[in-house]
Amino acid sequence: MSFKDLGLAEPLLRAINDKGYETPSPIQEKCIPVVLEGKDVLASAQTGTGKTAGFSLPMLQLLSQEREKHNRPVRALILTPTRELAAQIGEELKDYSRYLHLRYTVIFGGVNQNPQVRAIKQGVDILVATPGRLLDLHTQNLLRLDNVEILVLDEADRMLDMGFQRDLNRIVDILPHKRQNLLFSATFSKEIKKLAQTYLTHPVSLSATPENTTVEKIEQRVIRVDKDRKTALTIKLIAEGDWQQVLIFTRTKHGANRLSQKLEKAKITSAAIHGNKTQNARTSALAGFKSGRIRVLVATDIAARGLDIPLLPHVINYELPNVPEDYVHRIGRTGRAGASGEAISLVGGDEVDYLTGIEKLLGEKLTRQIILGFEPQDPETAPIKKQQEQRPPRDKKPHNGPKPKHKQQNQSNAGDGAAKPKKRRDWRRRR
Ligand code: ADP
Ligand code: MG
Repeated sequence: MSFKDLGLAEPLLRAINDKGYETPSPIQEKCIPVVLEGKDVLASAQTGTGKTAGFSLPMLQLLSQEREKHNRPVRALILTPTRELAAQIGEELKDYSRYLHLRYTVIFGGVNQNPQVRAIKQGVDILVATPGRLLDLHTQNLLRLDNVEILVLDEADRMLDMGFQRDLNRIVDILPHKRQNLLFSATFSKEIKKLAQTYLTHPVSLSATPENTTVEKIEQRVIRVDKDRKTALTIKLIAEGDWQQVLIFTRTKHGANRLSQKLEKAKITSAAIHGNKTQNARTSALAGFKSGRIRVLVATDIAARGLDIPLLPHVINYELPNVPEDYVHRIGRTGRAGASGEAISLVGGDEVDYLTGIEKLLGEKLTRQIILGFEPQDPETAPIKKQQEQRPPRDKKPHNGPKPKHKQQNQSNAGDGAAKPKKRRDWRRRR
């Protein structure tokens, strides 16, 4: 199957060729023809599967088929949860639309609104926006949305997680009733299905991978370690492995800042990226990380969601997320573009419950490891029976007080659910 077979027109095919894409990804194969037919779509596919092009290419084609209205009202609205994602979609639109006469702009909060207002006044066919800034400008009467024909909700699950439900309702109320709706999500949760029922009309449901399965080529490691030893262990892993580009997830903004500072003290260049950072700080941190100037990026889930960070060999979960799906998103940061990756989770005694939830979602047990010199002392607070089956015999005694050194083993594997690297469905290699 080629992009041409999917019904895309010549100017788009040329732009795709310039980008170096050879074959459509599975989600693109399914999505593009349906969008071209004008139907509503509810699509789920894991991170990094090319969803942006999946909606952008057919959307651009539909918009270019129609005669441009002379005052260029907004005809397509793309909503996305974060500023970084909005900017990233803008970058892709720039590439895909280079041989078309369409205009777009990107608006988000945290920066001066005037340049955005000016761009809108000049007329844009496509508006990429975060919900807050969009409503803000609309309330100020600086923006009209009564000509919107296509609405895209990108990363809809994350928008719900971030509490945008009410904003979304308000925005949808403003839009014309008759419009095409495209909803993209990494997961197909109950909430997403409900959202789809409210916003979409007879949608075609598409999913390119089985629901919520993990990215397969990624090797997953779980290391049991005490909370107060995690920073030291992180530094050891990075230094001894000589890892040059590492993404670390923490649960809180403060945690991200603290860890980043400690890494800097250990002479490991690092930056934290989270919602409290200014837009400029976030952009420059990401750019520094991509260019290799910054070795470690410490991020919260929300900040990292959907960012296109290619070829990332190492992801560390400094803390496990309490939402199991977030684990899948996090480790989806590794092994992009056919590269293999390793995802390491540092698990304290109080996080074993989260681990169990993650294993349930994955449908597999993850091997616990213990690193010499970092043997955990804090007891696991999860259901003890189950956990003991997972652990090596020497761990059966309760951990009170330091254990004799000779009983430790370096990086011992516990349990038999070893995380074997599996083959990955790689659409860029397979064809
Ligand atoms: P998602 O939104 O599903 O997480 P993206 O749309 O951000 O994924 O795409 C991930 C990466 O894959 C981007 O760098 C994009 O340029 C690239 N990509 C998208 N489609 C193709 C394709 N058909 N062939 C090769 N690379 C692609
Ligand atoms: Mg995306």
